[in-house]
Amino acid sequence: MAAAGRHILDVRGLHKSFGTLAVLKGIDFRLRERELAFVIGPSGSGKSTFLRCCNRLEEPTSGSIHVDGTDILAPGVDINAVRRRIGMVFQSFNLYPHMTALGNVTLALRLASRKSKAEALEIGRAALARVGLAHKAQAHPGELSGGQQQRVAIARALALEPKIVLFDEPTSALDPELVGSVLQVMRDLRETGMTMLVVSHELQFARAAADRVVFMEDGVIVEQGPPEQVFGAPQQARTRAFVARID
Ligand code: ADP
Ligand code: MG
Repeated sequence: MAAAGRHILDVRGLHKSFGTLAVLKGIDFRLRERELAFVIGPSGSGKSTFLRCCNRLEEPTSGSIHVDGTDILAPGVDINAVRRRIGMVFQSFNLYPHMTALGNVTLALRLASRKSKAEALEIGRAALARVGLAHKAQAHPGELSGGQQQRVAIARALALEPKIVLFDEPTSALDPELVGSVLQVMRDLRETGMTMLVVSHELQFARAAADRVVFMEDGVIVEQGPPEQVFGAPQQARTRAFVARID
């Protein structure tokens, strides 16, 4: 057992360009076990690209990324094994419409983790229970609200027992009245000690729930700190201008 408070995610000097477009211009970021950090910033500032580099959905141009002590950019690293340790939740839920909620949650378990059917069902049911959807195990995505579908997607990520979950605007596709149930699941996960990195426009929620807020603009981290500081007493003019939207 490693000591509590070690870094689950350790990003140094991360650069990412698409052709001649420099999108990430030197990101240094470390996330401790059990921390809930929010990344905020204007559209196009590189937030999604940053998250996607953290499980190599995008290949960084340079820099280093360690996840739970593993150098995920090392030559020969088993990227599928790495990805099993990193849950990812997107704006669009990407559930298979012809499969039940439980089927969606257990699919990766059966394919990626080679669990037996009985084991996968047990883990899948437990994951659905964690997001408050035990009673919807047999429902198909089309029978669920957007908020419930997103919670199934979260359960699918949890079922693989990740060391960290990355969320990219998990509530952006939801009707306003459905946002709360997804935010509540994230709160509950924090209580259970999950390490989470969340890109979100839910500034009120970030202010209330985050351990740390990271303000990104134009491919760099402009400022980061506890929410009281970033929202209440921002040090940088660019941060002040952005958080002035929240009141
Ligand atoms: P954010 O999530 O903060 O809105 P993104 O990381 O999605 O920002 O995008 C940052 C910039 O990178 C944008 O200019 C976007 O057009 C560009 N970009 C993102 N993905 C690609 C890609 N696959 N190819 C080319 N440009 C991309
Ligand atoms: Mg984005």
